[in-house]
Amino acid sequence: MAVGVLALQGSFNEHIAALRRLGVKGVEIRKPEQLGNVSSLIIPGGESTTMAKLAEYHNLFPALREFVKMGKPVWGTCAGLIFLANKAVGQKEGGQELIGGLDCTIHRNFFGSQIYSFEAEIAAAELASKEGGPETFRAVFIRAPAVIEAGPGVEVLAEYPVPSNNVLYSSSSVRIQEENAAPEKKVIVAVKQKNLLGTAFHPELTADTRWHSYFLKMACESGEGASSSIVAVEGV
Ligand code: GLN
Repeated sequence: MAVGVLALQGSFNEHIAALRRLGVKGVEIRKPEQLGNVSSLIIPGGESTTMAKLAEYHNLFPALREFVKMGKPVWGTCAGLIFLANKAVGQKEGGQELIGGLDCTIHRNFFGSQIYSFEAEIAAAELASKEGGPETFRAVFIRAPAVIEAGPGVEVLAEYPVPSNNVLYSSSSVRIQEENAAPEKKVIVAVKQKNLLGTAFHPELTADTRWHSYFLKMACESGEGASSSIVAVEGV
């Protein structure tokens, strides 16, 4: 079955192109009934308030929550990660509606506004290939969020050292992973919890398809695979 890509706003075309490079069909999802045609879903980056307003307008929230509850694999990138979280902070009073399911608190703009967007080489053991291929990847952070609290069932897949000029660095109101507090504070930027994957960065904006392969493998293992084409996926 094909992989759905929520196509309300943001980088959905880039996700579909990345899936195509892996021989997998990505299907644009804009209406609740279209979720019945896909076995897994990618929620792209973009602007989460706008995305939430559009999702509300199209009455997508109940169907999206049901999709998550059914245990179908869902991957949120950046704004998509915010969408999947149980709680988001760093936003205006009231915030925006979330799908929830991921037992995390996300700071919506942890790394700052657009001008603080950046790229970095970071490590994720899950991306290492059996042949010993590199486990580091180029992470593109655009007005990026970060996971500031993660529940016990959440697996941390990647972290990033908190820039010393980050306003949250010394804030006592925000608990950054205590065990990583010294000598360098790190913030969580990629997580997995059962059927849910969340990344604060944008793998779809790079030529590296390993995160997409990783998600397809998750989908395959959950029995909600994207058909035999996944056999062609390498590196994970
Ligand atoms: N921080 C943005 C938001 O709140 C997300 C940015 C992104 O998806 N690149 O929606």
